[in-house]
Amino acid sequence: MVSDQLERRGIRDPRVLRCMASVPRELFVPGAAAFAYDDRALPIEAGQTISQPYIVARMTELLALDRGARVLEIGTGSGYQAAILACMGATVVSIERHAELAARARERLGQLGVSGVEVRVGDGSRGDVVGAPWDGIIVTAAAPSLPEALREQLAVGGRLVVPVGPRAQQDLVVVERRGEDEWTERSDGPVVFVPLVGEGGWQEGGSGAPGFGG
Ligand code: SAM
Repeated sequence: MVSDQLERRGIRDPRVLRCMASVPRELFVPGAAAFAYDDRALPIEAGQTISQPYIVARMTELLALDRGARVLEIGTGSGYQAAILACMGATVVSIERHAELAARARERLGQLGVSGVEVRVGDGSRGDVVGAPWDGIIVTAAAPSLPEALREQLAVGGRLVVPVGPRAQQDLVVVERRGEDEWTERSDGPVVFVPLVGEGGWQEGGSGAPGFGG
C-alpha cells in the first residue's frame, strides 16, 4: 500500500508514510480485513465509509502538522484517520454524529493503545469553539460550502482540510490562516466523500452514496 498507492502518487512526508505503514488498517475495517489495503474506500457500520488510504495520507500530509499539534477531526468513522493523526504526534479531538461509530472507534483505539485521541458524539459541522484555536482541522465528510465557522477556529499558522462541493464530487480545499484576518485557500483536486450532515453541512436525508475517496 505504501509504495504502490502512496509513494507512487506523490506522498512524500516520511512521517506520514511511516504512520500509514505502522497503523494496522485491517483492525478498522469491520468484516472486510481481506480488503483492508485495497485502493478504495470501504464500508463500515452505520452506512458510512473508511476513506481510501491515499486520501487519508494526502489529507494528513496537507495538514503539515508539527509534533504536539492540536487537531480537530470531524467525522471519526472507524477511527483510522484519528489513529494516523495520533501517530503523527498530534493531540486529537474527533467528533462523530453516529454514537455507534464513536463507540466502536473508541474501542479500536483503546485496543491498539492509541493515546491522545478523544472521541465525542455530536454534530461537528460547526467545529468546537471551546477547544479553539486548532492547529489543524480535518473534515472527513463533504460540506456543501466552505464552513466559515471552522476557518475562524484555526490558530494563526493552522490549516483546515475539507472536501467542499456538490454531493457527486467535491474539491479538497486547503485553508491556511496566515494572520488574524488573513487566510489563503486552494484546491488540492477532486475527491468524493460521504456528506457532512448537520447545521453547517447538508440536511439529513437525500443520497449520500460513498465514492472512491471517502
Ligand atoms: N475519518 C473516518 C475514518 O478514518 O474511518 C472516515 C470518515 S467517513 C468518510 C465520514 C464520517 O463523517 C462518517 O462516519 C459520518 O457519520 C461522519 N459525519 C458526517 N457528518 C458529521 C457531522 N456533522 N459531525 C460529525 N460527524 C459527521
